[in-house]
Amino acid sequence: MTLSEDVYLDYAATTPMDPRVIEVIHKHFKETYGNPSSLHSIGQKAAKMLYKSREPIASLLNADRRDIIFTSSGTEADNMSIQGVAMQNKTRGNHIITTSIEHHAVENPCKTLEKRGFKVTYLPVDKYGLVDLDELKESITPKTILISVMLANNEIGTIEPISEIGEIAKDHDIVFHTDAVQAFGKIPIDVEQMNIDLLSASAHKIYGPKGVGMLFMRNRGFINGGELFIRPLMFGGGHEKNMRPSTENVPGIVGFAKAVEICKEEMSREAKRQERLRDKIIDECQKRIDECFLNGHPTERLPNNVNLTIRFVEGESILLDLDSEKIAASTGSACSSKSADPSHVLRAIGLSHQDAYGSLRVSIGRFTTESEIDYFLDKLPPIISRLREISPFKK
Ligand SMILES: *Cc1c(COP(=O)(O)O)cnc(C)c1O
Repeated sequence: MTLSEDVYLDYAATTPMDPRVIEVIHKHFKETYGNPSSLHSIGQKAAKMLYKSREPIASLLNADRRDIIFTSSGTEADNMSIQGVAMQNKTRGNHIITTSIEHHAVENPCKTLEKRGFKVTYLPVDKYGLVDLDELKESITPKTILISVMLANNEIGTIEPISEIGEIAKDHDIVFHTDAVQAFGKIPIDVEQMNIDLLSASAHKIYGPKGVGMLFMRNRGFINGGELFIRPLMFGGGHEKNMRPSTENVPGIVGFAKAVEICKEEMSREAKRQERLRDKIIDECQKRIDECFLNGHPTERLPNNVNLTIRFVEGESILLDLDSEKIAASTGSACSSKSADPSHVLRAIGLSHQDAYGSLRVSIGRFTTESEIDYFLDKLPPIISRLREISPFKK
């Protein structure tokens, strides 16, 4: 079997832009060049587009459009949340609770704060990657100022019990942030029902442009009607309610809004379609390859994520061989692909070094077809057999 084009199975790293989004961005790069802060009508046209773009994004989260702050990325929204809450509340407390499986965009700001006198609890997770709620409750102290738990994990796809965590945070009057970059646009999110105070998302994970993200900030960042619970990281003009200065990327933001509209419209249908393809990959890989098992939760997982450990081979070698068959997959996190350490997420769910090195992440998306999956399922088993023959980790 042959396919003429590349088979892209790395949607968790980034997505190709939807042609409908490209069309909108192209139009606005040409037409909406004004500065939204300018008073003339060219500027005000841009201001109107900026204003209109908050609505679909807020609506997908059941949020108020005034609580949406545009940023340059998911990473920036994560940093604003972690560092912003820490800086604003350091006189109240210096304790932050997060998990041992966060994306580096949350993990590294936490590590940086530790060097500046903050204490951070990294909650362990079970073998599926789920946070233990009792453990969370027990780790809360009078000095806890922030709980940050990701909505869904980018490597293993596990969806965390966010409503329950939100309730615990609310009961203890602690600000609750969730990194929803992988979940946003793929599964339903309701910031009211889930008691979320801060939520990060990114356009390029949902068929929008790179370099555009957003932060949901409950009550414009105010608690008790007056006091701010978050401090901006940058200072400049008064953009984005003084929270995130610099001239807004209007065409990119309009593209983000379009990407969100499409996700909202197609979410339930796409989730079902992708779940079926996902389960086909999981079942067939385990049938066709021995010593192959699924990482992450069997059911509480993103519709587009598969993470397998294929024992006695190295994930990186699988990737290179897949690449020569024009298939793009991943070993886990794109951001750690330059480091020699095995994934901290796979280690946290209890995998040995060797099993963590033998991991393969296959993430699918809107443009993935069944024939691409069949092609992948055809190509993978012989690659594994060949690699196992030359493997230093003998069976
Ligand atoms: C991709 C990703 C990020 C970073 O988003 P960028 O927009 O690329 O900075 C943060 N968290 C998670 C879970 C991600 O998957």
